[in-house]
Amino acid sequence: MSGGTHAGRYDVIIVGGGIMGAATAFHLRTLYGKSVVLLERGMVGAGASGVNFGNVRRQGRFLPQMPLSHRAREIWGRLPELLGEDCEFLATGGLRVAYSQADMAVLEKHVNEARDWDLHLDLLGQNAIRSRWPWLGPDVVGALMSPDDGHANPRLVAPAFGRAAKRAGVVVHEQCEVADIAREATGFRVTAKTGLEVRGEVLLNSAGYWGGRIAADFGEPVPIVPRGPQMAVTEPLPYFMEPVLGGVSSNIYLRQVKRGNVVFGGGLRGPVETDPPRGRPVPELSIAQWGRVVRFVPALAGVQVIRSWTGVEGYMDDDIPVMGESGTTPGLFHAFGFCGHGFQLGPGVGAVMAELIATGRTVTPIDPFHIRRFESLKPA
Ligand SMILES: Cc1cc2nc3c(=O)[nH]c(=O)nc-3n(C[C@H](O)[C@H](O)[C@H](O)COP(=O)(O)OP(=O)(O)OC[C@H]3O[C@@H](n4cnc5c(N)ncnc54)[C@H](O)[C@@H]3O)c2cc1C
Repeated sequence: MSGGTHAGRYDVIIVGGGIMGAATAFHLRTLYGKSVVLLERGMVGAGASGVNFGNVRRQGRFLPQMPLSHRAREIWGRLPELLGEDCEFLATGGLRVAYSQADMAVLEKHVNEARDWDLHLDLLGQNAIRSRWPWLGPDVVGALMSPDDGHANPRLVAPAFGRAAKRAGVVVHEQCEVADIAREATGFRVTAKTGLEVRGEVLLNSAGYWGGRIAADFGEPVPIVPRGPQMAVTEPLPYFMEPVLGGVSSNIYLRQVKRGNVVFGGGLRGPVETDPPRGRPVPELSIAQWGRVVRFVPALAGVQVIRSWTGVEGYMDDDIPVMGESGTTPGLFHAFGFCGHGFQLGPGVGAVMAELIATGRTVTPIDPFHIRRFESLKPA
């Protein structure tokens, strides 16, 4: 690969400018000097990457994902230095709350299993949590504190990666929906609905839910469905809730931003449309979520919920993403289907995919996420 750009020809074409595509573009350019074009149907970071809850959480993850999550967390701490913006990332700690001894057993198991990952987890009983967070509901019997977890503003992160990539020399085309991808003797020819045509040696499919369609076009169908996790936010309140809260058995999470609003979501996923992408919040889901919020933090009863929203996310049937090189097509790479937990991973996915594309290998193990696990679905 040359590192130079001439007449619409690049080292790497990236389809999809969510956090995965934008972070990969940034790392490919700044660490490896590749010439990169990023093609995004809407605006960079306006999809799932821009509307999510903003949880930057390592505790409770699928263990084989820990190395990737760890790599991502290291980058989260360096965002101001890397991008020139902090993206409102705050390492406030994440608190996973238990309502029963069965919940506590789940937390204890995680403490043991994640021992090697340096999460500094702290399992706390009822007295300890009462003295630190007296506003937690009376049903809470314990919690697991992960002090290096936190939250960020999803509206800022992928666009910041996109802007930094552009400053470094990545060519970014927004409002540019890819209509056709053809394999040629020396790479790929990509045609957008605008008529733009670009060529590249390598193609990264980071098209979120729609990444499944691109994979299928290259003979690699995957079991992916679109869903809309539902979020809502309250009126602003005096700031009191530092850690991000999540439940073990109660499927709810909430965080308070410094401006005072409490953002909440979790568990319930509504239907979405994909062509064009559109998620409609279902009022009944917000009402059900609110009951769980108030059980966590009774002081929130009576507070006004001012807005709800959702977004289109791709869920794989085994709840883990697709990452790595294609099993059918040399030069094609995938990073899609992040199943509702890709925001924290995003910066790490960018670093790993850039490393894999530029050097042919990555020091971070991603084998469990390879698309070959769906080989039985390939057309005969
Ligand atoms: C409401 C909600 C809450 C969530 N909460 C959290 C959370 O708290 N923590 C967490 O870790 N994760 C969370 N997630 C998941 C996280 O947001 C996603 O896993 C992550 O953002 C996926 O990033 P992506 O880049 O793969 O996909 P996307 O952000 O969807 O980006 C893919 C992009 O590809 C573009 N595209 C698709 N087809 C084409 C085409 N043909 N041509 C050009 N461009 C195309 C799309 O327009 C889109 O911008 C949540 C998701 C949602 C929806």
